[in-house]
Formats: sequence, C-alpha cells, structure tokens
Amino acid sequence: MRKIVPAVILLVVVVVPIVIVVARSATPVIDLPAQINMIGQSTPINLHITDPRGIRSVSATVEQNGASYAVWKLAQPSKGKEETLSFTAGVKTTPQLKDGTAKLIVEAVSNDLLHRSARVERDVTVVTRPPTVSVDSEQHYIYIGMADLGTFSVSGAYTAAGIRVGDEAFRAWPMPGGKPGLFSLYAFAWNMPQSTVPVVFASNGAGNDVTIPLTVIFPKKEQPHYTVHQLQVSDQFMQKVIGELDPNGSGDVVARFVKINSEMRKANNKTLAELRFKTADHFLFSQPFQRQPHSQNEATFADLRHYIYHGKEIDQQVHLGYDLAVTQHVGVQASNDGRVVWAAPLGIYGNCIVVDHGYGLQTIYGHLSHIDVHEGDMVKRGQVMGQSGMTGMAGGDHIHFAMQLDGVQIDPKEWWDPHWIQDHVARRVELPGFHS
Ligand SMILES: [Zn+2]
Repeated sequence: MRKIVPAVILLVVVVVPIVIVVARSATPVIDLPAQINMIGQSTPINLHITDPRGIRSVSATVEQNGASYAVWKLAQPSKGKEETLSFTAGVKTTPQLKDGTAKLIVEAVSNDLLHRSARVERDVTVVTRPPTVSVDSEQHYIYIGMADLGTFSVSGAYTAAGIRVGDEAFRAWPMPGGKPGLFSLYAFAWNMPQSTVPVVFASNGAGNDVTIPLTVIFPKKEQPHYTVHQLQVSDQFMQKVIGELDPNGSGDVVARFVKINSEMRKANNKTLAELRFKTADHFLFSQPFQRQPHSQNEATFADLRHYIYHGKEIDQQVHLGYDLAVTQHVGVQASNDGRVVWAAPLGIYGNCIVVDHGYGLQTIYGHLSHIDVHEGDMVKRGQVMGQSGMTGMAGGDHIHFAMQLDGVQIDPKEWWDPHWIQDHVARRVELPGFHS
C-alpha cells in the first residue's frame, strides 16, 4: 500500500534543507589591486579575498594566444573569513609567455555547501624586458643637504622613473618645452651617508627594475659645516609650548615638552612631506628665490640643537630651516611665485604656509601670528601672505623659513643664488623667463 505523505511533512523535508543550504552559502569577493596591469619576469601579486564561510580554493591562470597556463593555486582550504594571498607570475615560472597582451584570471571557491565561486579577469601586458635608461654623461657636483637636477631618458614600458638617493625617490618629469627626455630635481639629504650614490631608476611594476648611477663629485671645500647649539629651555618657554601644543595634557612637563619636540615634530614633518603630491607639473617661478628682506639669521639649516633645562640635556633635534627675524609682526613675503598648498596651524610650526613652486619644490613659512592667504591661492614673489609671530614652538617673533624637494627638506640658500639656479637648473632644462 502506498503511504501518503502529508504535504506539510514533504515541505519540511524538502524545503528546510534548501533553506539551510542557501542561508549558509556565500560567494567569495576577490580584490585584485588595480595597479596590477603588467607581468614581467617575476611580478609580485597580492590578492585579498573575503568569504564569511571560508575559502575552499583559489587559483590563478594566465591566458595568452588561446593557451591557458596555471600560475598558482592555494595549497589548502582556508577557514578564515578573509585572506591576503601573495604569489608571483611571470616568464620565470611560465616561459611560454611572450611580450604582448594577456589575461590574468583569478577564481575562488567558497567553503560553503554550494561551492559558490567568483572569478576576476584582468587584461595585462606581458613585458619580459626591463626598460632601458640612458643618463646624461655630465658630472654632478653634490653638496650635502642641497639639491641638483639630472636629465635622462627611458625607453620601453615603465610605470615609475626618477632619481633615487638612498631610500628617497624623486619623481621624473617630462622635459619642459616639449623636448625629448625626462628630468628629476633631487636632493642629497643632510643626513644621507656620503657614500650613497644617486641613481636614475625606471621600473615597469612587473618586477623589472633598472638603475644607473649618476657621475657625482662631492667638492670637499664647499661642503656645509653644520653647527651645534645649546638651547636653554626656560620654564617660561616650556609652559608656553605645552600650554599651546598640549593644552589638555597632564603629567610631567619635561616629558610633555620632549614629546612635542620629538613626536609632534616628526608627525608635522610627515604632513609637510606629503604635500609633495600637491605640486604643479611645470615651473611656477622664473626668478631666483627671495630671502625675507632685512632679516637676521637666528638659526641656519641642519643646526643640531641640544635642549638644556635646568642644566640638564632633555632632548636633541636638528633644525631643518632658517630662523629669520625682522621686527614683530612683519609682513611674511612669498619667496617666489607659486600656489599656496597649506595655510593653517601645523603643530610645532604654528600658523604655517606652504607654497608650491612646481616639480615638487616648495617653501615653508612657520610661526606666523596671522595668515592672510588660503589654500589654492596663487601668490607672487614678495607678496605679503601674513604676519610673523611666535605661534608653535617659538620663543620669540621670527619666520621659520624652510624648503623641501619631493618631501625632503633642503637648504634653501642655493635657491637664493641666481648663479646656482643657472648652473644646476636653467642650463639643463628650459626655465622660461629666467635670467641669471
Ligand atoms: Zn626654526
């Protein structure tokens, strides 16, 4: 006799497992960074995959000219909800690849009951050869803490190029005036070991990098000699600084002062360095830079300061600018034509203005009592942008004047010198309107 199963039981038997399977299923989400668009010798690829049920399998293949090559696969399933996976792809492991277009395909399967999968395809260019670089054969005279300009050309596919000094990279720009080739303004930082050789680099983001050293000379005689100072910290100065820069802090005043002087200084310098990305891709100036008129030097570039409090050394810092004093509340003049990229308080620098002059070259003005310009304003050489003061870490009214090149602080003094600009810049690239 046929058993009649009530419809309700059938529904429960059939529908409930489906509901459970669907509810417990998930689809992996694959994040393949957008900058992966080339494959070279052995290109590093980082993937990020999320799946609430874990990841059963992941595989990467490269398709080219109708053939498919397995490049990598996940060794074992992962229970984690998210995974960052790294592997390499390129000619080293897949010698069949040829220069030209290809497709990188990543597939991931969920650890759920339905084995749902996701697939990402990316058009890539296979570049088996590194770019080639040719460097001008000139000798470059380098002064520590200062800047110079190198010209070169790069052929073949590349994604980044420039001049690298130690761990600091300076971007390449197309030659102005539509001339062929590239150039970089670069700095040899005040604290860079003198054995460091600046190199021109080009990279195509495919694991193919090439570097060629510049021919450099460090003239012994004219190298800067940085001075050492003992800076007496009075109780009044300490109270002024912590009252202004750490108003809600508590505890040991010396510890608070040292924290401002070290950690806040470091953070402020990082903020300044990041302004390198707010720069024009052409020269905004055509004259030498101007030093604040009638000003006295109270401190110069890269002075080492020992901070002495009640006879005891509490800190040491290097001063990366000039302290220029005139009179109280003097009009702070733009050193050259440019565009304001910062006009706001900045920690130890107090009320601060940064002016961009193009190609990563920027001037910095600190401790103002008042700022009269706004971010985005174009300013002219000699234009008053605000009044001097003693905001931030300043014990008296002065202008902290500094310069940076691609985020590396440099000695401004050569930019005040028309002959230096002629010899190091205008002779090598077109600097419209410049006469030394
Ligand atoms: Zn200063």
